[in-house]
Amino acid sequence: METVFVDGSAGEGGGQILRTSLALACITGKSLHIENIRAARRNPGLAKQHLSCVRAVCQICAGQCRGAALRSSVLDFHPAPPRGGVQPAPVQSGDFHFDIGSAGSASLVIQTVIPALFLADKPSAVTVTGGTHNPMAPPFDFLSETFLPAIVAAGFRGNCKLIKHGFYPAGGGKITFDIQPWQKSTDRIIDLCELGKEPQIHARIYTAKLPPHIAQRQRKLLLQSGLNIQNVEHIEVTDSDGPGNCAMIRLCSGERTTVFTAFGMQGKPSQEVVSEVVNLAENFLTSGAAIDRFLADQLLIYMAMAKAGSFTTNELSSHLQTNMEVIKKFLPVNFSVEQQKQAYTISCLPRAN
Ligand code: AMP
Repeated sequence: METVFVDGSAGEGGGQILRTSLALACITGKSLHIENIRAARRNPGLAKQHLSCVRAVCQICAGQCRGAALRSSVLDFHPAPPRGGVQPAPVQSGDFHFDIGSAGSASLVIQTVIPALFLADKPSAVTVTGGTHNPMAPPFDFLSETFLPAIVAAGFRGNCKLIKHGFYPAGGGKITFDIQPWQKSTDRIIDLCELGKEPQIHARIYTAKLPPHIAQRQRKLLLQSGLNIQNVEHIEVTDSDGPGNCAMIRLCSGERTTVFTAFGMQGKPSQEVVSEVVNLAENFLTSGAAIDRFLADQLLIYMAMAKAGSFTTNELSSHLQTNMEVIKKFLPVNFSVEQQKQAYTISCLPRAN
């Protein structure tokens, strides 16, 4: 079986190149050799979250790896060898538990293993302990309200539950994710190009182990923003290991919800937290695109598995562009990008070779 060589410093140069490569190696049965892992990050090499992703894929496809150590910048991953023929051994369904051992994002570990588990012939369950709400990763609310409903359109069905909240830096949260075998069908594809109805705008504030004035101030600032926010929900978390705060804006249009998040931290004024999340929502709303910049890069692998699909997004982020390049190394697909005013249409098509 062929080996795919990936330069982890290309494009975005972060963890996503590694996670996408691991997921695709599992799906295709191809071996992976990746160098310069997370070379563009301040703390390059494998951190605990990435190491958990490596261990997780080894477990779900009975694979082997070399270089799986903290801060390692080179990794070889061999999914289970073919059983007799050229096809890789099928991914085994199961009940999997992964503990990141830090506040590393549980959602990102889940997103690494589920593409392969969707290909198993029986349902699976994945439980991950780590961060559930941390910066630079999909918070649980995004996973359940934005990501899952978007992939259902292409026959990828699952269900996720937040068991315990985990904020950076304490971590210790827990998410479970149930995966159903992929109901593949040519008439079920990701087709998220139309804007849908004018969204209802809601806000949500999480605080954990923090004084009450923080949520009160953020509520006031959200209601004073230019957005027509209909209500602000405050969730005071009592089960987390440490403190945490984030402000979310949820754009709800028909069956689609887009969750934007900004995180509070010590020394960061609430004004900054709120304007960060308001700006994300405003940029998206004025673009006329259907899919936000975060979901955009996360949808590509599902379109590539189906070898079809398209969506519009408001930003050609480097995560999005890098992910397209990585996916093309493993799967016979191409992506096209067309710009119309402030939105880009991204489409996936099968490739001949
Ligand atoms: P990397 O920076 O390479 O580790 O990749 C981070 C991943 O997390 C990308 O897939 C981003 O789209 C995703 N991500 C980062 N921030 C958010 C957010 N606020 N909401 C949803 N997804 C996010």
